[in-house]
Amino acid sequence: MMNRRQLVCTAGAALLARVPKALAATYDLIIRGGLVIDPSVGLDAVRDVAITGGKIVAVDADIAGDATETIDGRGKIVAPGLIDIHTHAGRNKEGPELALQDGVTGWIDAGSGGADNIDQIAAVARGAPQTGRALVNISRTGVTPGGELHDINNANVALAQGAIARNRDVVVGVKARLSENVASANDLEALRRAQEAAAPFNLPVMIHIGQTVSPMRAILPLLKRGDIVTHMYAPAPNGILDDQGRLFPDVTAARRRGVIFDFGNGVADHFDWPTVERAVKQGFWPDTFSTDWNVMSKTTGVVDFPNVISKFIMFGMPLSQVVACASVNAARVFPSFDNRGTLNLGAPADVAIMELREGMFEYLDNYKSTRTGRQRLFPAGTVLAGKRVRRA
Ligand SMILES: [Zn+2]
Repeated sequence: MMNRRQLVCTAGAALLARVPKALAATYDLIIRGGLVIDPSVGLDAVRDVAITGGKIVAVDADIAGDATETIDGRGKIVAPGLIDIHTHAGRNKEGPELALQDGVTGWIDAGSGGADNIDQIAAVARGAPQTGRALVNISRTGVTPGGELHDINNANVALAQGAIARNRDVVVGVKARLSENVASANDLEALRRAQEAAAPFNLPVMIHIGQTVSPMRAILPLLKRGDIVTHMYAPAPNGILDDQGRLFPDVTAARRRGVIFDFGNGVADHFDWPTVERAVKQGFWPDTFSTDWNVMSKTTGVVDFPNVISKFIMFGMPLSQVVACASVNAARVFPSFDNRGTLNLGAPADVAIMELREGMFEYLDNYKSTRTGRQRLFPAGTVLAGKRVRRA
């Protein structure tokens, strides 16, 4: 048998220093000794994670063999790469890189662009390092500060369908913002048109609720299985709670028939602490978290995706559930992510490394009200397609 010693004898010391090590590396990358939380397989234990060829190839205690690169995961949480289903990461070409620093290895731009400007968003998505997708706004203008649906003629079904047809690789759904300050009394008609645009492509619709003209009992019947309600904890008028703070039966019924309820942190009008508290006390937790992130979010109550997640740790959501909402649950909403949100063997090696710190952390709602939590997740490293992402 030809062994390493014989090779050294014949080739000399210089070769020993260089080639054999490279030849001998068993894996491309090993993340050693982290607390691996992978709800997709029910794992919550200290493990090593080995990666080769951009795929997860082993998750075990004390993996033998070496790697070209090793990350020390001790004291850290090693989770599937985070998937943020409501962002505006497609607005700026530097957005995707910034989100990646926070552990976000998949994102959806939720309605920044409509038929008139979705092509720019799609170009950013195609150029992103991670998987970026977009929802086309049912308003041809995309999101506009003054509200894009006050004129219902902006909700042009044929134009939206054209936008989907020419961006099939990126556009994975339709977005409609239904608040009174966006849509006046056009909320239901805008949603009907969003469904009409999505139907031939069999795509979901995401609606943004809160302070709508119409009540949830009128809006929810227009949603089908797999559609998404974002800003789920938006306060009255016309949120998910009645005047006594009880969940509307229509809301729990919608969840039972497969409508997804998404947090959608945002900045203004999208959630307040009392609504979150009342809803979670009735067991109505998010299916998915999302940030409503954009490149300015560091300076708002969003900060980063791990910060948004930490708000639910404060409300007592178990860590494995928290990670599920930010990874596997989100991956299941859009087929583009269907082999992601997991560290299962063979999956693309997208990993979010986070640090759970103890202390006093102030969290902001959208009404300048703070609550103090005793734990906060911080981004501590990202691996994308098996490669460590360097800090910007
Ligand atoms: Zn948004």
